[in-house]
Amino acid sequence: MITVSVINAPLKEVYVLRHIILSFAFVASIVNANDTVEKKTINEQLIETALTSRHALDILTDLTTNIGPRLPGTEADLRTVAWAENLLTSQGFDRVYKQPVRVPAWKRGIANASIVSPAPQALIISALGHSVGTPEGGITAPVVRVSSLAALSEISARAVKGHIVFIDHKMERHRAGKYYREVVGGRSNGASIAATKGAVGLLIRSIGTDSDRFAHTGMMLYDVKKPRIPSAALSAPDADQLTRLLTQHGKVTLNFELGSEHLESAISYNVIAEYDGAKFPEQYVLVGAHHDSWDEGTGALDDGAGIAIVTAAAKQIIDLPDRPKRGVRVVLYAAEELGLVGAKAYARENADDLHNIYLASESDFGAGEIWKLDTRFSDALSALSKKLLKELAPLNIEAGHNKATGGPDTSVLVNKGVPALTLLQDGTDYFDFHHTPNDTLDKVSPEALKQNVAAWSVMLWTTTNSDAELRPISLKKTQRVEAKELSTPQQ
Ligand SMILES: [Zn+2]
Repeated sequence: MITVSVINAPLKEVYVLRHIILSFAFVASIVNANDTVEKKTINEQLIETALTSRHALDILTDLTTNIGPRLPGTEADLRTVAWAENLLTSQGFDRVYKQPVRVPAWKRGIANASIVSPAPQALIISALGHSVGTPEGGITAPVVRVSSLAALSEISARAVKGHIVFIDHKMERHRAGKYYREVVGGRSNGASIAATKGAVGLLIRSIGTDSDRFAHTGMMLYDVKKPRIPSAALSAPDADQLTRLLTQHGKVTLNFELGSEHLESAISYNVIAEYDGAKFPEQYVLVGAHHDSWDEGTGALDDGAGIAIVTAAAKQIIDLPDRPKRGVRVVLYAAEELGLVGAKAYARENADDLHNIYLASESDFGAGEIWKLDTRFSDALSALSKKLLKELAPLNIEAGHNKATGGPDTSVLVNKGVPALTLLQDGTDYFDFHHTPNDTLDKVSPEALKQNVAAWSVMLWTTTNSDAELRPISLKKTQRVEAKELSTPQQ
């Protein structure tokens, strides 16, 4: 027993040291050495192996290097699906399959902007996802600035008519990213509200917390009853520049040109892998991430890291000598960025099977260290919550609230009564890179990625073996969120 444990011990200095100490102890007293080694629980072993494994980093490196950007409905999207199938097949699941999902397709094209007067100069913009394009040569019009989407709703149509609307709503930095929700409405719904008042185009200050000269793209939606106007995001320094010019001169004329166009819808796939439980094979814990990304970066943080984390954690469970009581299902969703398209398809296709999901969760907030556990169980103080907090304590994870959505795609399941949890990552710098060309592999800390895999492995082993009853859950909060933010994109 001791021989096996020591040989398998990870090669960190501390373990080498322990090896030496234990070897001496073994000679001196076999009983003492056995006591020290055999007390390790499965969760402790999972943490040890995760903290010394490169597996998640290798997955993420391969995805971001050999696939790169993964815009839904493109050829790269289908290469991603094939990559995901190969990856999951190589991990030892009982079965891997894909589920077709129809996704809207779109081409970005060129995106240029410049101040025409009073101080001609180029600006950095990025087309918002699924914006229409402009005529060749772009749109030239005076700019009207509003401080938020709410301010746009209140301003008179007379002030907006014939103008390019500029929503200049600054996003504040926060560990849990809570200010994203305050500003993202301008991106999602600004165009149709501006168009109702006669605007000819929309520019928004990037939804981000950096001051880099990159603009942040992201999905926008058109109200089918309103005219469609071209829409783009300005980098934060360019938004500041435009605001200064407006403040000093009152009138600023701007030109912007987008080569964006809508394409025929296409087929993508959710990629699904199942590992059956030993006692309740029909039940499973569903862990997810989305395999699509925006096209300007390589989607390392959003959401390549999520794929790497949940896959590596599931592999840790598969590598244990015994199966857990219930199964593990990994779902890599299609087209999350376009409005949870894959997640909605999953919920629809599995409508008869949702009662078999013991709980669901998703990793989709970058690769920062996990610091908090949020749940959505029938009982906030469930025996499972207590057990999880105890087992996750060595990883510095604290108790959160009981209103978790489990992640964007998981929220669709939560709205259908599926219990969920969120292992909340430190997102302090997530919105510096989110949806920009800067979302690349170098932004991922290998150590934080390992901590994530450790936490997900412990969560999987603990929940797949839990006897706690988690249903029924309260639906109040997510229903409100879905109505406001999670509507399906209009093509
Ligand atoms: Zn994401």
